[in-house]
Amino acid sequence: MLPFQYRPSLLLPTSPASCGPAPEKEAKGIKGERKGPVLPSLGLLIWLLPLFLSSLTPLLGQDCTLIRPARVFDGENFQQGKVVLVLNDQIAAFDTEKNMDVPAGCTTVDYPDGTLLPGMIEGHSHLLLHPYNETDWNDQVLKESYAERAIRGGIHAEKTVRAGFTTVRDLGSEGAGYVDVGLKETIEKGVIQGPRMIVAGKAMVTTGSYGPKGFADHVTVPLGAETADGLDELTRVVRDQIGRGADVIKVYADYRWGANKMAMPTYTQRELELVVEIANSSGRQVVAHAATAEGMRRAVMAGVATIEHGDGGTREVFELMKKHGVALCPTLAAGDAIEQYKGWKKGVDPDTDRIVNKQKSFALALEVGVTIAAGGDVGVFPHGDNARELEMMVDYGMTPLAVLRSVTAGNAAVFELADRGQIKPGLLADLVVVQGNPQAEISALRKVRAVFKGGVLVR
Ligand SMILES: [Zn+2]
Repeated sequence: MLPFQYRPSLLLPTSPASCGPAPEKEAKGIKGERKGPVLPSLGLLIWLLPLFLSSLTPLLGQDCTLIRPARVFDGENFQQGKVVLVLNDQIAAFDTEKNMDVPAGCTTVDYPDGTLLPGMIEGHSHLLLHPYNETDWNDQVLKESYAERAIRGGIHAEKTVRAGFTTVRDLGSEGAGYVDVGLKETIEKGVIQGPRMIVAGKAMVTTGSYGPKGFADHVTVPLGAETADGLDELTRVVRDQIGRGADVIKVYADYRWGANKMAMPTYTQRELELVVEIANSSGRQVVAHAATAEGMRRAVMAGVATIEHGDGGTREVFELMKKHGVALCPTLAAGDAIEQYKGWKKGVDPDTDRIVNKQKSFALALEVGVTIAAGGDVGVFPHGDNARELEMMVDYGMTPLAVLRSVTAGNAAVFELADRGQIKPGLLADLVVVQGNPQAEISALRKVRAVFKGGVLVR
């Protein structure tokens, strides 16, 4: 169902060298053996070639790594006594070593107290933003050049993948046009290290709702997203965003444009339905920013894949989400960070209204059984600190096992990424090894020992 651009490594010839060096493989691999120091005559070589090839089968021309961790989280459950064989960019086998034909010359790596898990999938990032306590959002949108934002984005991308997040769903460039599409392509070319990106491009808002705001009426400022209103314009803008490289369409189903800056719904039901109809017909999902019960309800009924934030969700709305198979991407860490930027001292001051409300609505979503798509709105807080969201999901009532499922196989299913998120032969070898057991202590996810992206050691 997904367009192939989500998994370019399946389409392109494998070229590990293009995604950064893997020195130990070069040193020990079969490539050295292929370079004979003295060649016999061409005729003799042709005659000898089949024999030579058969002696190297099956490793010839392939990169092979056998990973031996203490335990494996396969996306669903923990398993012990198993190893993972990586050939080129894919998981070739996952079994006990006894049951496995490991090719001669394969590089073996041991992690005696390590847990191997699928590369984690960040559900809500903004690689082109940095924390608001460094520079507030308005100034990032209005005063930072595209060059600065792109360079920062590259640094953020490297931090993200090194933290074990090998895929991100990047939900809006926030005023940086299609720099996210360019960043994604730069990573795919191997120019810089970074996660696989699912990008939203500019994202869509109704006229009058989004920022930057607060300027004199005669001053026109660029917005942090693209305005589109009414059925004709929405049709054109969704198609245009797709044409410019958006993998997913993001709409703001509500925003703080009500009286007293209260969050209130923006798009009408019919508008949202049209956006979903057009995006889906191209094989793309729609995600909705929504913090009000009514904005969430409209988005769910329109057929979006996920609701971002969902702070104002009621039991009725969460039940509707469950019924229609719409996931909640809760972004707990972003709200928590913003309260701290405003002066709230976490663990010292009493919880603010916003924090208390978020804890309640998240608990309600869990109670109702809404699918939770792990995503922190990282960028509001530092890139590479993505695990903060996962720790907070545990703090707010999820089991570590449920969190681990969400950030791997769960997100892969919700985002329709059939080629990743589990330890299974045939899937992409996007893998992370952490020290210790994250089921016992979720913060073990911060102790990253190794990251493989498409079989190439990134860290
Ligand atoms: Zn966001």
